[in-house]
Amino acid sequence: MIIGALLPDIIDKPLFLLDLGGGRLYSHNLLFVIISFLIVHFSTKRNKSISLPFLFGLISHIILDLPYVPLFYPFFSYDFPYIEEPFIYWLRKLWTDPLVIITEIAGLLFILFIVVHNKLYHIRDITNYLKGFNQTLIMISKEKEIPS
Ligand SMILES: [Zn+2]
Repeated sequence: MIIGALLPDIIDKPLFLLDLGGGRLYSHNLLFVIISFLIVHFSTKRNKSISLPFLFGLISHIILDLPYVPLFYPFFSYDFPYIEEPFIYWLRKLWTDPLVIITEIAGLLFILFIVVHNKLYHIRDITNYLKGFNQTLIMISKEKEIPS
């Protein structure tokens, strides 16, 4: 779910900062959602305990980015304003747009909650936490493979 929720920005934001896209063009549309879900679904041997949370993460990301999402790209063209200095534009937005400030603070508070709640104060704690999370995913996927 976390990977699905982050994936659209992992793809589009670097392209935006490199001035190769509008920041929401290539991975913020329904075609991308469908194709990436199918890739995850079939590459995990149709394991719904992995592919459905991934899909949920993707869809929740797209919903939270509405209304400025090119949902039907590439079937419809979307005009994005040409931004000369994408990084400066993003920095300025970060400090002047109240909605951006609120969502960034909310994201920061959410990360802080995860860190404090799981006592992740050392790099070793974070590694163990992620390994434990990975082990849980492996256990879930193995349980699904065993026919009942
Ligand atoms: Zn996004």
